[in-house]
Amino acid sequence: MSFSPVENLREKTKVAVQRFIEDNSLVFCELEESLYCVFTANDLKKFLKEKGLKQSGSKPELIERLINHDRLMAEKLVSNYKIMKCSAQALNFLDEFKENRKNALNLAKKRSFEFLLKGCVEDAFMELLKYKKEYLDCYDSQANHSYEDEIEKINFVISSSPKVLGKISQNQLDNLRAATCMSILWYYDELSESWLPDDFETHLSSNTVAINYLKCNAEMRKNLANCQKYTDKVKLTFSKVDVDSCGLCKKLKNQVFDLKNFPELPLENCTSQTGCKCEIEEVYDEQDTIECENVLSALTEVGNLELFTKLSQLKKLFDNDLITEEEYQQKKTEILSRL
Ligand SMILES: [Zn+2]
Repeated sequence: MSFSPVENLREKTKVAVQRFIEDNSLVFCELEESLYCVFTANDLKKFLKEKGLKQSGSKPELIERLINHDRLMAEKLVSNYKIMKCSAQALNFLDEFKENRKNALNLAKKRSFEFLLKGCVEDAFMELLKYKKEYLDCYDSQANHSYEDEIEKINFVISSSPKVLGKISQNQLDNLRAATCMSILWYYDELSESWLPDDFETHLSSNTVAINYLKCNAEMRKNLANCQKYTDKVKLTFSKVDVDSCGLCKKLKNQVFDLKNFPELPLENCTSQTGCKCEIEEVYDEQDTIECENVLSALTEVGNLELFTKLSQLKKLFDNDLITEEEYQQKKTEILSRL
């Protein structure tokens, strides 16, 4: 069998093979098959030459000639080998398993889509998990994967309705959201477009653009929400290697926004096919600089529990040029010395 019994059945190869033999999944090969596995064509020609027989023909022909000449001798040649193969019964079982797995996957995808349509994100995830547990060998190695990141991403998509999509009915929006989430939930093994109804249409040039815009909007909202934990002012920058962003959205470059006035991205008249996304940088104003002083003085009085948070705050101050490298290193050493 081609899969590794050790890895997938959590039993030793020897034990697994014995079990397969007992339940008739593994059977001994015919003489022809054994000769075929053990010897090369050249080996076979050598045997034929020793017997003064013709050495031309394909490998199966050489084997047939050898057996026809002296079956006992041929049997002796492979008597030291135990060559086994999957029985017809085992092959059937594998085919059936693969068929069942395929059906289960389709069903799980369909069900998760239905849940996503209704906005039930956790139920949709349960469908993925149930399928993985039942059918995927790699389930164990991913058991520690909590899907927090994916759930967060999907929750933002499920709650996005950017103006850039134009006039769109609630029903259409539900469909677009659920379809967009499918590729996140099923790890890009799934094309979002294929989950949209055949007659789905927006004013945009294609459904792919609509999906891209929704994804982009969700991602920007997610990044903003994370920024909110640290600051209320952000600056927009675009990556140097960004070739997708449109001129309209790029006009926002280096502008500073209060989080509550942050423009919705992609902008309503965005022309980028992928949806313009910028990078959001936290901005600290004077008020923050005063706060920075407070953090620095607080740093000298914190207990171990808070050290990690304080260290990351310190790093953030340094990253935003609010303290010098020297100050940063000094405070860091100070904090770490108390661990
Ligand atoms: Zn744009």
